[in-house]
Amino acid sequence: MLMFCPTCGNILIAEEGIHYYRFVCCTCPYTHNIKRKLSSRMYPKLKEIDDVLGGSSAWENVNSMEETCPKCGNKKAFFLQIQTRSADEPMTTFYKCVDVKCAHRWKD
Ligand SMILES: [Zn+2]
Ligand SMILES: [Zn+2]
Repeated sequence: MLMFCPTCGNILIAEEGIHYYRFVCCTCPYTHNIKRKLSSRMYPKLKEIDDVLGGSSAWENVNSMEETCPKCGNKKAFFLQIQTRSADEPMTTFYKCVDVKCAHRWKD
């Protein structure tokens, strides 16, 4: 399916990422975001969490709370709240076990 830029009339190029799908214009800043019916309901895979958060450094200086690690049963975990998808959807909470040997990551 070809899409044309409403601003300048050039053909829009499809760009596909992990969490988005959009059409961009080569010649002007026009961008058309597509909400994917399937992926909008899909949660990021655990291995993608660090990418979403901007790398493992995102876990530096975060607070911990009482949350039981599903892997080792530790009663405390670091947590981060991130807006991973569109702004009208609730924040996603990511957890990381405080036990350095475990360091298990999971999400709400
Ligand atoms: Zn354009
Ligand atoms: Zn753990």
